[in-house]
Amino acid sequence: MLRNDQLDQWDRENFFHPSTHLGQFARGEAPNRVINGGQGCHIEDRDGNRFLDAFAGLYCVNVGYGRQEIAEAIAAQARELAYYHAYVGHGTEASITLSKMIMDRAPKGMSKVYFGMSGSDANETNVKLIWYYNNILGRPEKKKIISRWRGYHGSGLMTGSLTGLELFHKKFDLPLAQVVHTEAPYYFRRANLDQTEAQFVAHCVAELEALIAREGADTIAAFIGEPVLGTGGIVPPPAGYWAAIQEVLRKHDILLVADEVVTGFGRLGTMFGSDHYGMTPDLITIAKGLTSAYAPLSGSIVSDRMWKVLEQGTDENGPIGHGWTYSAHPIGAAAGVANLKLLDDLNLIANNRDVGGYLNRGMAEALGAHANVGEVRGEGMLCAVEFVKDRENRIFFDAADKVGPQISAALAATGVIARAMPQGDILGFAPPFCLTKSEADEVIHKTTKAVQSVLG
Ligand code: PLP
Repeated sequence: MLRNDQLDQWDRENFFHPSTHLGQFARGEAPNRVINGGQGCHIEDRDGNRFLDAFAGLYCVNVGYGRQEIAEAIAAQARELAYYHAYVGHGTEASITLSKMIMDRAPKGMSKVYFGMSGSDANETNVKLIWYYNNILGRPEKKKIISRWRGYHGSGLMTGSLTGLELFHKKFDLPLAQVVHTEAPYYFRRANLDQTEAQFVAHCVAELEALIAREGADTIAAFIGEPVLGTGGIVPPPAGYWAAIQEVLRKHDILLVADEVVTGFGRLGTMFGSDHYGMTPDLITIAKGLTSAYAPLSGSIVSDRMWKVLEQGTDENGPIGHGWTYSAHPIGAAAGVANLKLLDDLNLIANNRDVGGYLNRGMAEALGAHANVGEVRGEGMLCAVEFVKDRENRIFFDAADKVGPQISAALAATGVIARAMPQGDILGFAPPFCLTKSEADEVIHKTTKAVQSVLG
């Protein structure tokens, strides 16, 4: 086994870490952490520190760490057949079984699933399918995609453009021209504090209508959104938002992409966020919870309506010119099958509803009245605490004060991991679905202490 100081040196000299301050890390000014074990809701680092991971990695280890059933399924698949491609009608028992399991669980009106490796590439697939669809329908001008500010849809060229967070655009020459952004459904951050929730929804609708009018409905192909804004702040939509938005989309013949990379397979306490909010999407993006991150795998679920046109397209033009080497990778597929079985066998979505509600209520009770807490919000096993400098007048802290990162660091020092969300002082929680009530109590108690240690 390598010594810790040796690993530390190799890490800083060789490893280009994603979403990391490169200079500080290389110079040794920012900490590194080498994780080498996990069980249930806990992970362990090389120094023997144990953490309750209340963010499930990157809200993805939904069934919890150390599940031997998934490890065994991966090992068995690797021994039998580690790889074969899925081009021109090839498959494996695992990939075909997983397709069936996904479609059995998908919302009504969906037809087939295309597999990728990450949420980002699944959204790239979605955009290509949308463009193909409108070309087959003979409307080559209808190509722009509407996304929301604060939406998160990936880090690629197109998906980084769809993402509505400044850090993902700045200095990368993004967003690309085919992407336009509209208002985030973020009631707490509304510009007009006098608006009721219903008035704010009407405002979001008016903003969307105005954008469509400005661009021309015949240039807009699709609208993409997460059922609950995730990386943009963990923000459940205001009541009636999705019904009102869908009415506008239908009127202008604009497709809806539900990005369920976080919400798919139970995070909100229901199988899909689309069912949770009465959305009827044309495409659904899935990733993280599909395998609980035991292996990289994503998917684009295509509706009946789109599928018919895709079939027509290949009848007219030949095979679909879209494929990844690792589409439907057998090891990912085997992990997916074992993971979805485990969700059912252990009744984890029901536990998620129960303990997620307990966590949200407890967090609101513990911190809701704190002078620097503007809002405690959540849905299912998602929870966020947003901090403000002045609660009465809803004045935010300066980003330079790094209040969110300070609180998350103070919390980590007590053995609990929560995520300082990238834009605003927001502490995010998305624990594995197997969280117990006593673990939820620990998260609430230690978060309260961490907040008090930074803000008093
Ligand atoms: N879509 C959503 C809603 C996400 O939260 C993420 C990642 O966090 C992505 C897409 C991108 O997924 P990946 O990081 O696997 O490319």
